[in-house]
Amino acid sequence: MTRDRAWWPPRREFLGAALALPSAVVLAGSQALAQPRTLAATPSCVDKGAPTPPQTAGPFYKPRSPRRTSLLEPSMGGTRIVLTGSVLATDCRPIAGALLDFWQADDRGAYDNTGFRLRGHQFTDEQGRYRLETIIPGLYPGRTRHLHVRVQAPNQPALTTQLYFPGEPGNQGDGIFRPELVMAVRDEPGAKVGAFDFVLSVPAPKPAG
Ligand code: FE
Repeated sequence: MTRDRAWWPPRREFLGAALALPSAVVLAGSQALAQPRTLAATPSCVDKGAPTPPQTAGPFYKPRSPRRTSLLEPSMGGTRIVLTGSVLATDCRPIAGALLDFWQADDRGAYDNTGFRLRGHQFTDEQGRYRLETIIPGLYPGRTRHLHVRVQAPNQPALTTQLYFPGEPGNQGDGIFRPELVMAVRDEPGAKVGAFDFVLSVPAPKPAG
């Protein structure tokens, strides 16, 4: 469990968190803040310090999905999307080694309940980042378009939730839709690119020494 204390938050968004920390830590943070950085595409952690809300897993979760960052398969229909983001604590610390287990419908709105098509898990890197290559799921009756995911910091309970697509006509008519769970999605040449940061309620690390 040393990994999630070994880094220093490198992003400008961590200013808010740094203000709450001892001065020596703030100095270290200021030096990091002085580095030229590209702003993240997602809203800042300062704005998103509230924990990501849980949602039902629904009936189609299966444990023991394959470990993979791409759910794409040859001949798979649907619009490709690359989803990236971070897993953060409520104080904006990135969480390294967090498990993300995704599952979703195919482009026709069907889940694979016999195999593991469009199911996969991965772990965040040392900066708490993840990257998923998949397709935009199709619709099925009663729900707006969504991805399912379980997110779990090391040695912590899992958060089960769902992610939604912006501008989706079915969002407002879906009884469990929540705007806090809408991804940022933009078009890039040849692909759609999504972004979402998960925020987990996890215990603060013990002070070093
Ligand atoms: Fe579903």
